[in-house]
Amino acid sequence: MKKTLTTSAGIPISENQHSLTSGPRGPVALQDYHLIEKLAHFNRERIPERVVHAKGSGAYGTFTVTHDITRFTKAAIFSKIGKKTEAFLRFSTVAGEKGSADTERDPRGFALKFYTEEGNWDIVGNNTPVFFERDPLKFPDFIHSQKRDPQTGYKNPVRMWDYWSKAPEALHQITILFSDRGIPDGYRFMNGYGSHTFSFINDKNERVWVKFHFKSMQGIKNLPVAKAVELAGTDPDYAGRDLFEAIERKEFPRWALKVQIMTERQAEQFRFDPFDLTKVWPHSEFPLLDVGILELNRNPENYFAEVEQAAFSPSNVPPGVGFSPDKMLQGRLFAYPDAQRYRLGVNYQYLPVNRPHSEVNSYHRDGSMRFDGNGGRQDNYEPNGFGGPVQNESFKDPALNLSGTLDRHDSHKDNDDFTQAGNLYRMLSEEEKDRLTSNIAGTMKTISEDLQTKNIEHFKRCDPDYGGRIAAKLGLD
Ligand code: NDP
Repeated sequence: MKKTLTTSAGIPISENQHSLTSGPRGPVALQDYHLIEKLAHFNRERIPERVVHAKGSGAYGTFTVTHDITRFTKAAIFSKIGKKTEAFLRFSTVAGEKGSADTERDPRGFALKFYTEEGNWDIVGNNTPVFFERDPLKFPDFIHSQKRDPQTGYKNPVRMWDYWSKAPEALHQITILFSDRGIPDGYRFMNGYGSHTFSFINDKNERVWVKFHFKSMQGIKNLPVAKAVELAGTDPDYAGRDLFEAIERKEFPRWALKVQIMTERQAEQFRFDPFDLTKVWPHSEFPLLDVGILELNRNPENYFAEVEQAAFSPSNVPPGVGFSPDKMLQGRLFAYPDAQRYRLGVNYQYLPVNRPHSEVNSYHRDGSMRFDGNGGRQDNYEPNGFGGPVQNESFKDPALNLSGTLDRHDSHKDNDDFTQAGNLYRMLSEEEKDRLTSNIAGTMKTISEDLQTKNIEHFKRCDPDYGGRIAAKLGLD
């Protein structure tokens, strides 16, 4: 027998097809509370969409350690080979709104939550190892320039290239964005990168710097531009559908986690700032070390509850993992939890998809939508005489030596924004170079010659051939 429909208060509903009316022609009676609740709840179905990474898809999975890295980190997740930890991964595009197409040229978000026994660890990365900015003060301006024109509400390449002409630090990421990897073939055939520099701390309390790489074990596959444009019209949810259906077919996608390690001493002596998010650490000097395998093997039961309400922050790191001076990381440590508090409310971490699988003992209380037991009868201050949870100094990180004048240091001074973008360009095949420069020239077609020239000068400094090809494709001398 089917269950009886009820109101949210659990009261059985006798009629769900016809409103309560005075006579068959109406009007409707205000006492039809079921009608009122139904309309009122419907009006409130949307929560603020993420300003960036609004369109996403996610799945649960398992991380398995395959190699020993305990010499670098005491994090329990890596404590022994074969150890398994549950995870949730949310993929996304960045600039498009919630209804936008999955096949747009855009970086892809790669936001991972490990439910470790020492609390949640979030690696909130992208499918690119670098980013457009190295200073969080510029982030809102950069995103505004890529989003919609305030007057027309349309995207406008003039604003995009105007901003970039004044931000050469973006060239490395621009090169990745307009390369074939700028439109991955769904989410399974792309890499993920932690992008920032983080730290590992071992059981002797020694620190090294670390970068995280998740290499797709399905290989890299990208969409040709014409196919991506077609799919944007015929199947805008292409990437999410591909992920969901592959997991339903039990074709579980996997990524090999690898790390690059740099000692504190190497960082002090390195030829560029290793904490600069616009740069990679060359593999030849900092080889990738194998760590483990991440497999996605379970689809969510409910998109809103699990994918939309999933909340990630790079500030969630377990003992054995720490931060670095990376300025963008420092900005995100604030901005991400702040975005979740705004989007989901102050108790967002108690939602099932966000709740740690380990015990939570805190004195935070109350706040809107506090839907767990709110700490029950236990008192809510510390220090206390009732045996409540206390700090444990064994989890203290080693001190980090910092020096320098407090100032607004110009990050372009003595900084090379061009070589690594050029290195990537020089690595590409002739056909890849041709597609990259055509993609860039294509979006520059409608902007002024002055703006074209300014940007081409930057590409020429990466590699004369790079700028030269774009200029030729725009018919410039
Ligand atoms: P390597 O030759 O050791 O590494 C080159 C890397 O480039 C490989 O990881 C490869 O990834 C990746 N790659 C290939 N095509 C593209 C593309 N269109 N977009 C982005 N990445 C691509 O060289 P280096 O370490 O000295 O780095 C050279 C350049 O490679 C860098 O300037 C950077 O742009 C890029 N790169 C470097 C990474 C690093 O951490 N060092 C990471 C990713 C890119 P795959 O193996 O998956 O094919």
